[in-house]
Amino acid sequence: MLSVSDLSVSYGKVTALDGVDLDVPSGETIGVIGPNGAGKSTLVDTIGGFLDYEGSITYRGLEVSETDTPTLIENGLFYCTERRDLFGQMSVEQNLRLGSYLNDEGEDERLEEVFDLFPRLEERRSQEAESLSGGEQQMLSLGRGLMSDPEFLVLDEPSIGLAPVVLDDISEALTSIQELDVTILLCEQNLTFALEHADRLTLLENGTVQRSGTTAELQSDELVESYIGG
Ligand code: ATP
Repeated sequence: MLSVSDLSVSYGKVTALDGVDLDVPSGETIGVIGPNGAGKSTLVDTIGGFLDYEGSITYRGLEVSETDTPTLIENGLFYCTERRDLFGQMSVEQNLRLGSYLNDEGEDERLEEVFDLFPRLEERRSQEAESLSGGEQQMLSLGRGLMSDPEFLVLDEPSIGLAPVVLDDISEALTSIQELDVTILLCEQNLTFALEHADRLTLLENGTVQRSGTTAELQSDELVESYIGG
């Protein structure tokens, strides 16, 4: 569904990604793990069409640099950034409905599905997004992604900064999303979370791919443990 080939991205003189290859087959969850500064957010932002790059990124045969972001979204791609990008002074429900602005057919039904997945969002549907806790904001970011009825979700560190009990809620929701056959690219620093959800993993370090394999292969890899801390 997504194919990244020899991808390089620089911020001025800083090279953030250097010759990255990655494939995300339809229906699978591919985890990209790596320590701070490895290039995970750069990868997400580049796939979303927000950064110039060398090499190739094709989503369903469309070269990302030649395709505008609304077209990518219309083709089923949705990405949730580490920043969560919520509209702070708008309500939970308004933020969710914005997720379906390019495809509002069945919007009310999807809203109910998101509320089933995250009852806490339903309880807070009229509350301003900026007044939510970090975990609730993460739920809202994921929920808004689901409102676009995505076929491919790109997630940048959904576990970041969450208390263990909230992490369990997010993890459970992600499992439910996976059961809907959504293809997922999961960028994560939390190895346990990535191992729990990914079919395959790629380890990035300093913008280059250090390892790539099944979760079983990488789970016991010494390099993975040394970077991510077991
Ligand atoms: P983290 O887990 O800490 O968010 P990351 O794996 O997402 O890290 P990136 O944020 O993609 O890593 O950063 C990759 C490299 O690019 C780092 O060296 C970072 O300092 C650099 N970088 C990222 N954004 C910019 C920017 N806007 N300007 C200059 N350098 C940047």
